[in-house]
Amino acid sequence: MTSTARPSGRNQTSRVVRHQMYIGGRFEDALSGGTLEVYDPATEGVIATCPAGDAKDVDRAVRAATSAFYGGWRKVTAQERGRVLLRLADRIRARRGELAELETRNSGKPIVEAEYDMDDTATCFEYYGGLATKINGEVLPVPAEAMAFALREPVGVAGQIIPWNYPLLMAAWKIAPALAAGCTVVLKPAEQTPLSILALAQDFEAVGIPPGVVNIVTGDGPGAGAPLVVHPDVRKIAFTGSAEVGKLIMRAAADQLKRVSLELGGKSPNIFFNDADFENAVDGALFGTFINQGEVCSAGSRVLVQRDIYRKFIDAAAAKAKTIKLGNGLDRETKMGPLVSSEQRDRVVRYLEIGRGEGKLAVGGGIPKALDWGWYVEPTIFYDVDNSATIAQEEIFGPVMSVIPFTDEAEAIRIANATPYGLAAAVWTRDIFKAFRVVKALEAGIVWVNHMQPTFVEAPWGGYKASGFGRELGHWAVEEYLETKQVFINLDEKPIGWY
Ligand code: NAP
Ligand code: MG
Repeated sequence: MTSTARPSGRNQTSRVVRHQMYIGGRFEDALSGGTLEVYDPATEGVIATCPAGDAKDVDRAVRAATSAFYGGWRKVTAQERGRVLLRLADRIRARRGELAELETRNSGKPIVEAEYDMDDTATCFEYYGGLATKINGEVLPVPAEAMAFALREPVGVAGQIIPWNYPLLMAAWKIAPALAAGCTVVLKPAEQTPLSILALAQDFEAVGIPPGVVNIVTGDGPGAGAPLVVHPDVRKIAFTGSAEVGKLIMRAAADQLKRVSLELGGKSPNIFFNDADFENAVDGALFGTFINQGEVCSAGSRVLVQRDIYRKFIDAAAAKAKTIKLGNGLDRETKMGPLVSSEQRDRVVRYLEIGRGEGKLAVGGGIPKALDWGWYVEPTIFYDVDNSATIAQEEIFGPVMSVIPFTDEAEAIRIANATPYGLAAAVWTRDIFKAFRVVKALEAGIVWVNHMQPTFVEAPWGGYKASGFGRELGHWAVEEYLETKQVFINLDEKPIGWY
């Protein structure tokens, strides 16, 4: 890594660090020499460059991952793979402050949230460090004169493509179970947020990850992501991102009948019954939608409120939303940072314009005037939104809440399930019977009761319907990186006697 003088630019306040990607255990430029600019969303300044990897770089990385897989990683014991992951977790804990600050500078998120992310990232590596030694096959009950078992084997080279909202945590969700399973990895971070995973790669060798076992290829989706999906030596693609790109990936992978797992977007309902604890519920609605600037796949962006508390709920939520402190994520008082990029800010602003025609505005609705720099959007609440409205059906991925009234349990369930997505949902009530009835009726891969968003590495993460398939986290994630081999052994020494 080297530093260069800052380029000209109106709001360029920091030096631009030139980063390299990580292939075969070495930090490398793109073969083409191309680079991408990396921004601080709070200042709009360029803080770094990273290589603009393309198909040639992907090929180098896949070769490195392939020779690492066949050359030794396959023979590394589960115990040692586990220890490697545990040592990496230790490094993340030791570097928590530095990595969190880098994550905030690159993604915009509040530093307090970035610190939680670093803790979750370390916990993820610890969990899979422990799980590496618990990946067992099964012995099968075949007739007495035979023996059969199912072996679990790593799929080989895994291609992994991740989004920009939780940069290091999403990398951990992918890399940790793949290594626990015995795979090698080529990971492409989002073009906007490559910095934290590249910073962590500096520790890979020291913790005992052999060269080629984990490769990080930076670049954009069409340039570096697409060739990874179609590379013939990549046995499996794990993708987290939008439904739109998920479809492209599935189509591209179809030609080689390549295994794919997809963690896509959502338009998750957060359902409030009139018997919920009111103050908690209002907090839960705001937290469920506005955490991480609303750039959360499981954001509870459709807030369904029972009619008898509807008006009071909107007033309370709007009053609280007004107190959310926007600002540079590095400021510890900040509760909401800028969106990740000017493109994302513009995208969200377009939805705000649509929303004005589809609902009534309770609070927010624009770009905050007090902040000179940064891709901020005000926390926004629309109400009297019909569930068929664009802002209630399409994933906005910003701090925009649509409040929708309902009369009874049946109507709440009907509205909650009426989107193409099915990632997450939450229900707030003090009636345990109602809570469980609703839990069972919701078509979603994650359902919370009296909370929204807490996420634990032990529990499965993934969606129903257009939110994708396959599961991350827990032992489920390891399945995504394993093959199953049936082995049958004839113990009968008599001739088979067929011919
Ligand atoms: P995105 O635009 O779909 O991009 C995701 C990743 O795919 C990026 O690394 C992107 O590269 C890459 N990509 C783009 N086009 C590609 C192509 N043709 N072939 C291969 N790769 C390609 O999503 P995003 O804007 O980064 O993230 C927001 C989305 O992620 C939301 O829809 C959100 O719901 C979803 N998400 C889901 C989960 C979950 O667990 N279900 C978690 C987090 C986020 P570049 O951007 O670098 O070009
Ligand atoms: Mg993108």
